[in-house]
Order: sequence, then C-alpha cells, then structure tokens
Amino acid sequence: MTAAAMAITHQLAGATPVGSAAVLQRYRRSVLPTFGVPKRVFVRGEGVHVWDADGDKYLDLLSGLAVTALGHAHPTILAAITSQIATLGHVSNFFATPAQVALAERLTAMVAAPGEAKVFFTSSGTEANEAAFKITRGTGRTKIISTEGAFHGRSLGALAITHNPKYRDPFAPLPGDVVFVPYGDPAALAAVVDDQTAAVVLEPIQGENGVVVPPADYLARARAICDAHGALLWIDEVQTGMGRTGSWLVHVDAGVRADIVTVAKGLGNGFPIGACLALDGAAGLLGPGSHGSTFGGNPVAAIAGLAVIAVIERDGLLQRAKELGELLVAEITALNHPMITGVRGRGLLRGITLAQPIAARVADAALDAGFIVNAPRPDVLRLAPPLIVTTDQLRGFVAALPALIDDRGHR
Ligand SMILES: *Cc1c(COP(=O)(O)O)cnc(C)c1O
Repeated sequence: MTAAAMAITHQLAGATPVGSAAVLQRYRRSVLPTFGVPKRVFVRGEGVHVWDADGDKYLDLLSGLAVTALGHAHPTILAAITSQIATLGHVSNFFATPAQVALAERLTAMVAAPGEAKVFFTSSGTEANEAAFKITRGTGRTKIISTEGAFHGRSLGALAITHNPKYRDPFAPLPGDVVFVPYGDPAALAAVVDDQTAAVVLEPIQGENGVVVPPADYLARARAICDAHGALLWIDEVQTGMGRTGSWLVHVDAGVRADIVTVAKGLGNGFPIGACLALDGAAGLLGPGSHGSTFGGNPVAAIAGLAVIAVIERDGLLQRAKELGELLVAEITALNHPMITGVRGRGLLRGITLAQPIAARVADAALDAGFIVNAPRPDVLRLAPPLIVTTDQLRGFVAALPALIDDRGHR
C-alpha cells in the first residue's frame, strides 16, 4: 500500500499510531458485544501477513475465516476493484452490468452446462442461504432436513437450519418444519426424507463444527434419497467452495449434481459477495418480484469474484491447495505429538484434533507467537491459510506447534 493510501485510512479510522488499547477501549463503548472482546486490532495486511496496531506481525493461517484465499492486498484483485469502482461503482438491480453477468456465467459453468443454472447474488453466505430457503418454498412443500452440527448463518431463516442450540434457542420461534439428523449418515437421511420434504441441506464438510468430513459417498447417497422423493438437494459450499479444498466445489468434484448451491466466503477475497446457484427445475422457482437485494450483484463485488477466479486459474492454486494440504497433514502427523490425535479436512481447510479440550488456549498461544488460527470446537484447531501460503511458512507453524500445545498449560 502506498503511504498516501495508508494516510487516508489512518485519517478516517484513527487506528495508528495510537495502538491497540485505545482502539479496543473505543470498540467496547461503540460496538455491540456479539463477538466478545477482540483479541487484536489489525491495521494492515500484505500477502499472508497482517500487522496489528502495536506493530506486531502475524502469519494469517485463517484467512479471515476462509475468505482471503489470495492473501491480503493482492495486486490483481486490487487493480480489478479499483478500476471497476473508478468506472462504475454501483447501479440498482433495475439494471444489469457486464461484471455481474460474466460472474454469473463463470459460477454457473462450475455446476452445469450453459443454460442449466442461474444465480442470485448476495453480499454474504447467510443471505445466499436465505435465497436458497426461499427457493425451497417454491416446491409447495415446507419440510427441510438439516444435520446435527450444521452451520448455515445467523439470520432467522439460516438459523432455522443451523443446529447449535446456543445460537438458536434465544431467538425462537424460528421458521419451522426443520428436522435434524446425524451428519454423515445416509441411513438417517433415508429415514426422514419423504414426499413432503422440500429439501435436504448439507455442507460437504462441516467447517464450523470442526472440519468434519463425511464418508466419501455421502453426498451421492443424499442425491439418490432426494431423487426418490422429489426433494431438492441444497449444498452449502460457503466455506468449502471457491478453491479452498483443492477444487472449485467439493460436491462437483465428488460427481454430484445439486439443485441449489450457495457460495460466499472465498469468492471476493474479502470484498463482500455471496451467490445462490439454482440448477434445472430449481432455477424456475423464484419469479420476478419474489426476492431482492440492494447490494447483491454490485459490479465491484462481481469484478472481485471474477478476479479471484482468474488468479486461482492463472496460478494453478487448486492443485496447490491440494498439495499444500497433504504436506500439512504429513508434517503434523510426523510430529507424533501425544496431544494430536489427527488432522482432518481437505486441501487447505484443516482441523487438527486434540486429545483434550485445550484448542482455545493453544489458539491464544499461537496468536501470541504470531500465528492466526482458531478453535471451532474445544478439541479442534482450524487452519484455513491463504492458497498462496508457502511450504516454508506452513513448516514454520508446524515446527512451532508442539511448544504452543505444551505451553497452554501455563496460561
Ligand atoms: C460462514 C458460513 C455461512 C455464513 O456466511 P456469512 O458470510 O457469515 O453470512 C454459511 N454457511 C457456512 C457453511 C459457513 O461456513
């Protein structure tokens, strides 16, 4: 970033050179406490690194939660966004833009042949799932099957298909007619899907539940069960999609055709954008006037998505995510640390399972040591590094990991 650009952000936001403590004090007074107390205040990012307001540098192994897959301040993304915003920054959805249409074509081509799928653009994963939920109502049925451990967002509709009672219970009543079955168990699905079922909604890997990977044939079995009852198969790839696991979309890689697919997180590399894709008959279930969004399809967001796809293709990052993911598993396994019971996931979405519920303390120790990771469950550490991370950077974290685990007892 240029000195002039930094001067503008500093003048508007007042972050540095004041330091983290002063910003956090203002945060507590002015921001709702839904996220708890933030652990750091970040002021700058470049590639796989971010810097806090006290000048400390961190290796970002979480990518703002599976979002900045190309790292921070990527030159191609920056050029695309600035050129689009300088040309045309926004129009309403009464009008179309070339960027929006081009991104719709790129995304639909990932799931179907031309003309067989259509997109509704949003600004987040939650909204993509809300659009999907409304599509399911177009079937004339209301019953939705979701899974234990599922996470689909925090709005009332997305919450209705999210499992965690801590998230749900304070906000009852939620939209009803949702049945939860154990994840990864096709027999459990077969037992509840019937001719009243509108849709089955599944994550190909449960990210928020601790990077839980189902059996290899799970999505294909779910497809067959849905087909037997005329139910829609709705795949939530908000966390797994857009290259994170080494393919554009996990379910497509598994040879499964969905009726509805939602993506978001990695799509804009941090520029807010989500998309709900509807295939085949599902593409005809929401007509004119049935849904809307002011920001969905914004040309700057759309150009960000197009630039992300172009860079991932140009730089061979799908293959790279696969290879780096395997390297990470091999290196962590080779540590033979008694507290590490396994490494699960796919590509660069990984969960390190621990023998005891110490993951939050290990994540805190990692942060103090300059590594950003998180603990989606008490006994799981999650890594979702940028796809541009180097092998040396991953090895640096793995080398530090035993001390981070051993250190947590002293915290
Ligand atoms: C993060 C996430 C969402 C919600 O996306 P937001 O952009 O936070 O609204 C939905 N589904 C899955 C699987 C997610 O990981």
